[in-house]
Amino acid sequence: MARSSFQSPKGIRDVLPEEQPYWHRVEETIRKIVRLYGYERLDLPVFEETALYRRGVGEGTDIVEKEMYTFLDRSEKSFTLRPEFTAGVMRAYIEHGLAQRPRPFKVWSLGPVFRYERPQAGRYRQHTQFNVEALGEIDPALDFEIMSVAYHLYSDLGFRNLNFQINSIGCPECRPGFLKQLTAYYAGRKDDICEDCRKRLDVNPLRLLDCKVPACQPVIESAPRISGVLCDECRDHFARLRTYLDNAGRPYVINHRLVRGLDYYTKTVFEVWAEGIGAQNAVCGGGRYDGLAEAVGGVPTPAVGFASGIERIVLTMQSQDGAPPAPPHPAVFLVMQVPQAGEQVVSLLAELRAAGVDAMMAFGGRSMKAQMREANKRNAEYVVIIGERELADGTVTVKYMDAEGQETIARDSLIGFIRARLHE
Ligand code: ATP
Ligand code: MG
Repeated sequence: MARSSFQSPKGIRDVLPEEQPYWHRVEETIRKIVRLYGYERLDLPVFEETALYRRGVGEGTDIVEKEMYTFLDRSEKSFTLRPEFTAGVMRAYIEHGLAQRPRPFKVWSLGPVFRYERPQAGRYRQHTQFNVEALGEIDPALDFEIMSVAYHLYSDLGFRNLNFQINSIGCPECRPGFLKQLTAYYAGRKDDICEDCRKRLDVNPLRLLDCKVPACQPVIESAPRISGVLCDECRDHFARLRTYLDNAGRPYVINHRLVRGLDYYTKTVFEVWAEGIGAQNAVCGGGRYDGLAEAVGGVPTPAVGFASGIERIVLTMQSQDGAPPAPPHPAVFLVMQVPQAGEQVVSLLAELRAAGVDAMMAFGGRSMKAQMREANKRNAEYVVIIGERELADGTVTVKYMDAEGQETIARDSLIGFIRARLHE
Protein backbone atom coordinates (compact mmCIF):
# COMPACT_ATOMS: atom_id res chain seq x y z
CA MET A 1 0.00 0.00 0.00
CA ALA A 2 1.39 3.37 -0.94
CA ARG A 3 2.28 5.63 1.95
CA SER A 4 0.30 8.82 1.88
CA SER A 5 1.09 11.98 3.74
CA PHE A 6 -2.62 12.50 4.45
CA GLN A 7 -4.97 10.37 6.47
CA SER A 8 -8.66 10.64 7.08
CA PRO A 9 -9.40 12.68 10.23
CA LYS A 10 -9.02 10.73 13.46
CA GLY A 11 -12.07 8.62 14.23
CA ILE A 12 -13.50 9.04 10.74
CA ARG A 13 -13.49 6.18 8.31
CA ASP A 14 -13.77 5.60 4.60
CA VAL A 15 -16.28 3.04 3.40
CA LEU A 16 -14.36 1.22 0.70
CA PRO A 17 -16.08 -0.62 -2.18
CA GLU A 18 -15.68 -4.04 -0.55
CA GLU A 19 -17.81 -2.92 2.40
CA GLN A 20 -20.47 -1.36 0.19
CA PRO A 21 -22.46 -4.55 -0.46
CA TYR A 22 -23.31 -4.53 3.27
CA TRP A 23 -24.40 -0.90 3.12
CA HIS A 24 -26.40 -1.59 0.01
CA ARG A 25 -28.15 -4.49 1.68
CA VAL A 26 -28.96 -2.33 4.74
CA GLU A 27 -30.29 0.52 2.60
CA GLU A 28 -32.43 -1.80 0.51
CA THR A 29 -33.91 -3.34 3.64
CA ILE A 30 -34.53 0.11 5.16
CA ARG A 31 -36.39 1.24 2.03
CA LYS A 32 -38.55 -1.85 2.05
CA ILE A 33 -39.44 -1.46 5.71
CA VAL A 34 -40.21 2.27 5.74
CA ARG A 35 -42.62 1.67 2.88
CA LEU A 36 -44.23 -1.22 4.73
CA TYR A 37 -44.76 0.95 7.82
CA GLY A 38 -45.74 4.12 5.96
CA TYR A 39 -42.82 6.43 6.77
CA GLU A 40 -41.82 9.21 4.36
CA ARG A 41 -38.32 10.45 3.76
CA LEU A 42 -37.17 13.74 5.26
CA ASP A 43 -33.76 15.20 4.41
CA LEU A 44 -32.29 17.79 6.72
CA PRO A 45 -29.25 20.07 6.62
CA VAL A 46 -25.97 18.69 7.92
CA PHE A 47 -25.60 21.68 10.25
CA GLU A 48 -28.00 23.86 12.18
CA GLU A 49 -27.85 26.81 14.55
CA THR A 50 -25.93 25.77 17.63
CA ALA A 51 -28.74 26.98 19.86
CA LEU A 52 -31.10 24.37 18.38
CA TYR A 53 -28.94 21.54 19.72
CA ARG A 54 -28.16 23.31 22.98
CA ARG A 55 -31.87 23.53 23.69
CA GLY A 56 -33.08 20.48 21.82
CA VAL A 57 -30.45 17.98 22.92
CA GLY A 58 -30.06 19.69 26.25
CA GLU A 59 -27.40 21.21 28.44
CA GLY A 60 -25.71 18.65 30.62
CA THR A 61 -25.78 15.90 28.02
CA ASP A 62 -22.55 14.35 26.74
CA ILE A 63 -23.40 15.56 23.28
CA VAL A 64 -23.74 19.22 24.20
CA GLU A 65 -21.03 19.20 26.87
CA LYS A 66 -18.25 17.53 24.95
CA GLU A 67 -19.18 16.08 21.58
CA MET A 68 -20.38 18.86 19.29
CA TYR A 69 -18.47 20.16 16.30
CA THR A 70 -19.27 23.84 16.61
CA PHE A 71 -17.92 26.59 14.39
CA LEU A 72 -18.47 30.22 13.52
CA ASP A 73 -19.24 30.98 9.90
CA ARG A 74 -17.86 34.04 8.13
CA SER A 75 -20.53 36.25 9.64
CA GLU A 76 -19.64 35.02 13.13
CA LYS A 77 -22.84 33.04 13.58
CA SER A 78 -22.48 29.81 15.53
CA PHE A 79 -23.43 26.57 13.80
CA THR A 80 -22.99 22.93 14.77
CA LEU A 81 -22.61 19.83 12.61
CA ARG A 82 -25.63 17.74 13.46
CA PRO A 83 -24.87 15.37 16.36
CA GLU A 84 -28.27 13.67 15.88
CA PHE A 85 -31.44 14.09 13.81
CA THR A 86 -34.26 14.53 16.26
CA ALA A 87 -33.81 18.22 17.06
CA GLY A 88 -33.63 18.98 13.33
CA VAL A 89 -36.76 16.94 12.61
CA MET A 90 -38.63 18.90 15.25
CA ARG A 91 -37.29 22.21 13.92
CA ALA A 92 -38.54 21.31 10.43
CA TYR A 93 -41.89 20.10 11.81
CA ILE A 94 -42.50 23.44 13.50
CA GLU A 95 -41.03 25.59 10.72
CA HIS A 96 -43.15 24.02 7.97
CA GLY A 97 -46.36 23.68 9.97
CA LEU A 98 -46.29 19.92 9.48
CA ALA A 99 -48.70 19.48 12.39
CA GLN A 100 -51.42 20.25 9.81
CA ARG A 101 -50.78 16.94 8.09
CA PRO A 102 -52.40 13.66 9.11
CA ARG A 103 -51.10 12.65 12.50
CA PRO A 104 -48.83 11.06 13.38
CA PHE A 105 -46.39 12.65 10.98
CA LYS A 106 -44.08 9.74 10.19
CA VAL A 107 -40.63 10.33 8.70
CA TRP A 108 -37.26 8.72 8.29
CA SER A 109 -33.82 10.12 7.46
CA LEU A 110 -30.44 8.66 6.62
CA GLY A 111 -27.15 10.48 6.75
CA PRO A 112 -23.99 11.40 8.62
CA VAL A 113 -23.92 12.76 12.16
CA PHE A 114 -20.88 14.11 13.95
CA ARG A 115 -19.72 13.66 17.53
CA TYR A 116 -16.33 14.39 18.98
CA GLU A 117 -15.79 11.11 20.80
CA ARG A 118 -12.91 8.90 21.79
CA PRO A 119 -12.67 6.64 18.75
CA GLN A 120 -13.03 2.88 19.34
CA ALA A 121 -14.51 -0.06 17.49
CA GLY A 122 -18.06 0.92 16.56
CA ARG A 123 -17.57 4.46 17.84
CA TYR A 124 -16.53 7.10 15.36
CA ARG A 125 -16.47 10.87 15.06
CA GLN A 126 -18.65 10.67 11.99
CA HIS A 127 -21.21 7.93 11.76
CA THR A 128 -24.31 7.36 9.69
CA GLN A 129 -27.74 7.20 11.26
CA PHE A 130 -31.00 5.71 10.12
CA ASN A 131 -33.43 7.90 12.03
CA VAL A 132 -37.15 7.27 12.35
CA GLU A 133 -39.68 9.55 14.02
CA ALA A 134 -43.45 9.68 14.50
CA LEU A 135 -44.78 13.01 15.75
CA GLY A 136 -48.13 14.10 17.14
CA GLU A 137 -49.46 11.08 19.06
CA ILE A 138 -49.01 9.82 22.60
CA ASP A 139 -50.57 6.38 21.96
CA PRO A 140 -48.31 3.54 23.20
CA ALA A 141 -49.30 1.63 20.06
CA LEU A 142 -47.08 4.12 18.27
CA ASP A 143 -44.15 3.30 20.57
CA PHE A 144 -44.77 -0.32 19.64
CA GLU A 145 -44.82 0.58 15.93
CA ILE A 146 -41.52 2.44 16.20
CA MET A 147 -39.92 -0.49 18.02
CA SER A 148 -41.33 -2.79 15.37
CA VAL A 149 -39.60 -0.85 12.60
CA ALA A 150 -36.28 -1.52 14.36
CA TYR A 151 -37.18 -5.14 15.08
CA HIS A 152 -38.26 -5.77 11.50
CA LEU A 153 -35.10 -4.22 10.08
CA TYR A 154 -32.78 -6.31 12.21
CA SER A 155 -34.67 -9.54 11.75
CA ASP A 156 -34.79 -9.05 7.98
CA LEU A 157 -31.03 -8.55 8.10
CA GLY A 158 -30.81 -11.92 9.83
CA PHE A 159 -29.61 -10.74 13.27
CA ARG A 160 -29.65 -13.47 15.85
CA ASN A 161 -30.36 -12.99 19.54
CA LEU A 162 -31.95 -9.59 19.29
CA ASN A 163 -32.02 -8.08 22.70
CA PHE A 164 -34.52 -5.28 23.32
CA GLN A 165 -33.96 -3.34 26.52
CA ILE A 166 -36.82 -1.15 27.64
CA ASN A 167 -37.61 1.21 30.46
CA SER A 168 -39.85 4.13 31.30
CA ILE A 169 -38.21 7.29 32.56
CA GLY A 170 -41.46 8.99 33.50
CA CYS A 171 -42.54 12.53 32.70
CA PRO A 172 -42.34 16.02 34.25
CA GLU A 173 -45.10 14.87 36.60
CA CYS A 174 -43.30 11.95 38.21
CA ARG A 175 -39.62 12.22 37.29
CA PRO A 176 -38.76 15.10 39.64
CA GLY A 177 -39.89 12.97 42.59
CA PHE A 178 -37.65 10.16 41.40
CA LEU A 179 -34.68 12.47 40.86
CA LYS A 180 -35.07 13.68 44.44
CA GLN A 181 -34.88 10.10 45.70
CA LEU A 182 -31.95 9.40 43.43
CA THR A 183 -29.91 12.47 44.40
CA ALA A 184 -30.63 11.91 48.10
CA TYR A 185 -29.35 8.35 47.73
CA TYR A 186 -26.25 9.44 45.81
CA ALA A 187 -25.51 12.30 48.21
CA GLY A 188 -24.66 9.64 50.77
CA ARG A 189 -22.43 7.74 48.30
CA LYS A 190 -20.35 10.61 46.92
CA ASP A 191 -17.10 8.97 47.97
CA ASP A 192 -17.90 5.75 46.14
CA ILE A 193 -18.53 7.18 42.67
CA CYS A 194 -16.43 8.45 39.78
CA GLU A 195 -15.58 12.06 39.05
CA ASP A 196 -18.09 12.22 36.16
CA CYS A 197 -20.88 10.92 38.36
CA ARG A 198 -20.18 13.58 40.96
CA LYS A 199 -20.76 16.10 38.19
CA ARG A 200 -23.85 14.28 36.93
CA LEU A 201 -25.31 14.50 40.41
CA ASP A 202 -25.59 18.25 39.86
CA VAL A 203 -26.32 18.56 36.14
CA ASN A 204 -27.98 15.37 34.91
CA PRO A 205 -28.69 12.93 37.75
CA LEU A 206 -30.63 10.48 35.58
CA ARG A 207 -27.37 9.75 33.74
CA LEU A 208 -25.90 8.42 37.00
CA LEU A 209 -27.71 5.21 36.16
CA ASP A 210 -25.91 4.53 32.89
CA CYS A 211 -22.38 5.15 34.11
CA LYS A 212 -20.04 2.42 32.87
CA VAL A 213 -17.21 2.91 35.39
CA PRO A 214 -16.76 -0.33 37.40
CA ALA A 215 -16.60 1.45 40.78
CA CYS A 216 -20.05 2.94 40.20
CA GLN A 217 -21.76 -0.39 39.42
CA PRO A 218 -22.61 -1.51 42.95
CA VAL A 219 -23.91 1.98 43.71
CA ILE A 220 -26.20 1.80 40.68
CA GLU A 221 -27.36 -1.70 41.62
CA SER A 222 -28.83 -0.58 44.92
CA ALA A 223 -30.10 2.79 43.67
CA PRO A 224 -33.84 3.53 43.85
CA ARG A 225 -35.80 2.43 40.78
CA ILE A 226 -38.06 4.68 38.80
CA SER A 227 -40.66 1.94 38.25
CA GLY A 228 -41.69 2.46 41.88
CA VAL A 229 -42.59 6.12 41.41
CA LEU A 230 -44.15 6.41 37.94
CA CYS A 231 -47.41 8.39 37.82
CA ASP A 232 -50.59 6.59 36.74
CA GLU A 233 -50.36 7.83 33.17
CA CYS A 234 -46.73 6.73 32.71
CA ARG A 235 -47.36 3.42 34.44
CA ASP A 236 -50.36 2.72 32.19
CA HIS A 237 -48.46 3.74 29.05
CA PHE A 238 -45.62 1.37 29.91
CA ALA A 239 -47.99 -1.47 30.76
CA ARG A 240 -49.81 -1.13 27.44
CA LEU A 241 -46.56 -1.07 25.50
CA ARG A 242 -45.48 -4.27 27.24
CA THR A 243 -48.82 -5.89 26.38
CA TYR A 244 -48.28 -5.10 22.69
CA LEU A 245 -44.78 -6.55 22.87
CA ASP A 246 -45.99 -9.64 24.69
CA ASN A 247 -48.83 -10.20 22.22
CA ALA A 248 -46.37 -10.00 19.34
CA GLY A 249 -44.03 -12.42 21.11
CA ARG A 250 -41.17 -9.93 21.04
CA PRO A 251 -38.31 -10.62 23.39
CA TYR A 252 -37.43 -7.76 25.73
CA VAL A 253 -35.86 -7.07 29.07
CA ILE A 254 -36.92 -4.31 31.45
CA ASN A 255 -33.73 -2.50 32.32
CA HIS A 256 -34.13 0.06 35.07
CA ARG A 257 -30.70 1.48 34.30
CA LEU A 258 -31.66 2.40 30.79
CA VAL A 259 -32.00 6.17 30.53
CA ARG A 260 -31.41 8.59 27.71
CA GLY A 261 -28.83 11.30 27.93
CA LEU A 262 -31.21 13.63 26.18
CA ASP A 263 -33.33 15.80 28.43
CA TYR A 264 -36.45 15.82 26.27
CA TYR A 265 -37.00 12.09 26.49
CA THR A 266 -40.10 11.01 28.42
CA LYS A 267 -41.76 7.68 29.17
CA THR A 268 -40.51 4.91 26.89
CA VAL A 269 -36.80 4.43 26.28
CA PHE A 270 -35.37 1.46 24.47
CA GLU A 271 -32.18 0.11 23.03
CA VAL A 272 -31.38 -2.90 20.96
CA TRP A 273 -28.22 -4.77 21.73
CA ALA A 274 -26.88 -7.09 19.11
CA GLU A 275 -24.26 -9.79 19.23
CA GLY A 276 -20.91 -8.90 17.85
CA ILE A 277 -20.39 -5.22 18.60
CA GLY A 278 -19.53 -5.46 22.28
CA ALA A 279 -21.82 -5.25 25.26
CA GLN A 280 -21.45 -1.51 25.63
CA ASN A 281 -22.59 -0.76 22.14
CA ALA A 282 -26.23 -0.53 21.28
CA VAL A 283 -27.19 -0.96 17.66
CA CYS A 284 -30.06 1.44 18.19
CA GLY A 285 -31.48 3.77 20.78
CA GLY A 286 -34.78 5.54 20.97
CA GLY A 287 -37.86 6.40 22.85
CA ARG A 288 -40.42 9.08 23.49
CA TYR A 289 -39.61 12.78 23.62
CA ASP A 290 -42.86 14.51 24.45
CA GLY A 291 -40.99 17.52 25.83
CA LEU A 292 -38.88 18.41 22.82
CA ALA A 293 -41.31 20.51 20.79
CA GLU A 294 -41.73 23.03 23.57
CA ALA A 295 -38.01 23.05 24.29
CA VAL A 296 -37.40 24.34 20.76
CA GLY A 297 -40.28 26.82 20.67
CA GLY A 298 -43.23 24.80 19.38
CA VAL A 299 -46.57 23.83 20.84
CA PRO A 300 -46.60 20.64 22.94
CA THR A 301 -46.21 17.71 20.54
CA PRO A 302 -45.75 14.15 21.74
CA ALA A 303 -43.34 12.12 19.62
CA VAL A 304 -41.43 8.88 19.53
CA GLY A 305 -38.50 7.68 17.46
CA PHE A 306 -35.18 5.92 17.27
CA ALA A 307 -31.82 6.14 15.58
CA SER A 308 -29.57 3.31 14.53
CA GLY A 309 -25.95 3.61 13.42
CA ILE A 310 -25.35 1.93 10.08
CA GLU A 311 -21.71 1.23 10.94
CA ARG A 312 -22.82 -0.80 13.97
CA ILE A 313 -25.42 -2.60 11.85
CA VAL A 314 -22.70 -3.53 9.36
CA LEU A 315 -20.36 -4.66 12.15
CA THR A 316 -23.14 -6.88 13.46
CA MET A 317 -23.76 -8.37 10.01
CA GLN A 318 -20.06 -9.06 9.59
CA SER A 319 -19.61 -10.62 13.00
CA GLN A 320 -22.68 -12.83 12.76
CA ASP A 321 -20.87 -14.66 9.95
CA GLY A 322 -23.72 -15.04 7.50
CA ALA A 323 -22.65 -15.06 3.86
CA PRO A 324 -21.66 -11.54 2.90
CA PRO A 325 -23.95 -9.91 0.35
CA ALA A 326 -22.75 -10.59 -3.20
CA PRO A 327 -20.51 -7.86 -4.53
CA PRO A 328 -21.62 -6.40 -7.85
CA HIS A 329 -20.18 -8.07 -10.92
CA PRO A 330 -20.70 -7.39 -14.61
CA ALA A 331 -22.82 -9.63 -16.79
CA VAL A 332 -20.42 -9.14 -19.67
CA PHE A 333 -16.73 -8.39 -19.97
CA LEU A 334 -15.51 -7.44 -23.45
CA VAL A 335 -12.09 -8.59 -24.53
CA MET A 336 -10.18 -7.52 -27.65
CA GLN A 337 -7.88 -10.20 -28.97
CA VAL A 338 -6.18 -7.76 -31.33
CA PRO A 339 -5.81 -3.98 -31.03
CA GLN A 340 -7.87 -3.46 -34.23
CA ALA A 341 -10.91 -4.77 -32.35
CA GLY A 342 -10.78 -1.77 -30.01
CA GLU A 343 -13.33 0.33 -31.88
CA GLN A 344 -15.79 -2.56 -32.06
CA VAL A 345 -15.37 -3.19 -28.34
CA VAL A 346 -16.06 0.44 -27.43
CA SER A 347 -19.20 0.51 -29.63
CA LEU A 348 -20.45 -2.83 -28.39
CA LEU A 349 -19.95 -1.74 -24.78
CA ALA A 350 -22.19 1.29 -25.39
CA GLU A 351 -24.83 -0.87 -27.12
CA LEU A 352 -24.91 -3.39 -24.28
CA ARG A 353 -25.31 -0.68 -21.66
CA ALA A 354 -27.99 1.09 -23.70
CA ALA A 355 -29.85 -2.23 -23.72
CA GLY A 356 -29.56 -2.40 -19.92
CA VAL A 357 -26.87 -5.10 -19.79
CA ASP A 358 -24.10 -4.19 -17.34
CA ALA A 359 -20.83 -4.55 -19.14
CA MET A 360 -17.18 -3.63 -18.80
CA MET A 361 -14.03 -3.62 -20.89
CA ALA A 362 -10.33 -3.60 -20.11
CA PHE A 363 -8.65 -0.27 -20.71
CA GLY A 364 -5.10 0.55 -21.74
CA GLY A 365 -4.50 -1.90 -24.60
CA ARG A 366 -3.47 -4.84 -22.40
CA SER A 367 -2.58 -8.31 -23.57
CA MET A 368 -5.35 -10.86 -24.11
CA LYS A 369 -4.15 -12.74 -21.05
CA ALA A 370 -4.26 -9.64 -18.85
CA GLN A 371 -7.76 -8.86 -20.08
CA MET A 372 -8.95 -12.37 -19.27
CA ARG A 373 -7.42 -12.07 -15.84
CA GLU A 374 -9.35 -8.87 -15.20
CA ALA A 375 -12.60 -10.48 -16.39
CA ASN A 376 -11.97 -13.22 -13.87
CA LYS A 377 -11.18 -10.85 -11.03
CA ARG A 378 -14.30 -8.87 -11.73
CA ASN A 379 -16.26 -12.09 -11.67
CA ALA A 380 -17.96 -11.48 -15.02
CA GLU A 381 -20.62 -13.96 -16.04
CA TYR A 382 -19.76 -13.90 -19.75
CA VAL A 383 -16.65 -12.85 -21.59
CA VAL A 384 -17.21 -11.65 -25.13
CA ILE A 385 -14.11 -11.90 -27.30
CA ILE A 386 -13.51 -10.07 -30.56
CA GLY A 387 -10.48 -11.16 -32.57
CA GLU A 388 -9.40 -11.06 -36.19
CA ARG A 389 -11.76 -13.81 -37.25
CA GLU A 390 -14.73 -12.22 -35.51
CA LEU A 391 -13.93 -8.84 -37.07
CA ALA A 392 -13.87 -10.39 -40.53
CA ASP A 393 -17.05 -12.47 -40.00
CA GLY A 394 -19.16 -9.91 -38.12
CA THR A 395 -19.32 -12.32 -35.17
CA VAL A 396 -18.36 -12.41 -31.48
CA THR A 397 -17.25 -15.32 -29.33
CA VAL A 398 -19.06 -15.76 -26.03
CA LYS A 399 -17.28 -17.61 -23.25
CA TYR A 400 -19.13 -18.82 -20.17
CA MET A 401 -17.11 -18.06 -17.10
CA ASP A 402 -18.67 -20.53 -14.70
CA ALA A 403 -18.80 -23.42 -17.16
CA GLU A 404 -16.71 -24.92 -19.89
CA GLY A 405 -17.27 -24.00 -23.47
CA GLN A 406 -17.76 -21.10 -25.78
CA GLU A 407 -19.87 -20.20 -28.77
CA THR A 408 -19.41 -17.92 -31.75
CA ILE A 409 -22.54 -15.99 -32.73
CA ALA A 410 -23.50 -13.11 -35.02
CA ARG A 411 -22.51 -9.78 -33.51
CA ASP A 412 -26.05 -8.45 -34.02
CA SER A 413 -27.58 -11.24 -32.01
CA LEU A 414 -25.34 -10.68 -28.96
CA ILE A 415 -27.73 -8.53 -26.93
CA GLY A 416 -30.65 -10.92 -27.40
CA PHE A 417 -28.37 -13.88 -26.63
CA ILE A 418 -27.11 -12.40 -23.35
CA ARG A 419 -30.51 -11.13 -22.24
CA ALA A 420 -32.11 -14.52 -22.80
CA ARG A 421 -29.46 -16.19 -20.65
CA LEU A 422 -29.53 -13.58 -17.87
CA HIS A 423 -33.25 -14.14 -17.48
CA GLU A 424 -32.95 -17.90 -17.23
P1 ATP B 1 -23.70 5.42 23.30
O1 ATP B 1 -24.23 5.18 24.66
O2 ATP B 1 -23.20 4.18 22.59
O3 ATP B 1 -22.77 6.58 23.20
P2 ATP B 1 -25.79 7.14 22.46
O4 ATP B 1 -26.78 7.11 23.55
O5 ATP B 1 -24.86 8.28 22.35
O6 ATP B 1 -24.98 5.78 22.43
P3 ATP B 1 -27.74 7.62 20.46
O7 ATP B 1 -27.59 9.08 20.61
O8 ATP B 1 -28.99 6.98 20.92
O9 ATP B 1 -26.50 6.88 21.09
O10 ATP B 1 -27.47 7.22 18.95
C1 ATP B 1 -28.26 6.27 18.28
C2 ATP B 1 -27.39 5.21 17.64
O11 ATP B 1 -26.37 5.80 16.86
C3 ATP B 1 -26.65 4.31 18.60
O12 ATP B 1 -27.47 3.27 19.08
C4 ATP B 1 -25.55 3.77 17.72
O13 ATP B 1 -26.03 2.75 16.86
C5 ATP B 1 -25.22 4.96 16.87
N1 ATP B 1 -24.08 5.70 17.40
C6 ATP B 1 -24.08 6.64 18.37
N2 ATP B 1 -22.86 7.17 18.54
C7 ATP B 1 -22.06 6.55 17.63
C8 ATP B 1 -20.69 6.66 17.28
N3 ATP B 1 -19.89 7.54 17.88
N4 ATP B 1 -20.20 5.88 16.29
C9 ATP B 1 -21.00 4.99 15.65
N5 ATP B 1 -22.30 4.84 15.93
C10 ATP B 1 -22.84 5.61 16.90
MG1 MG C 1 -22.93 8.58 22.94
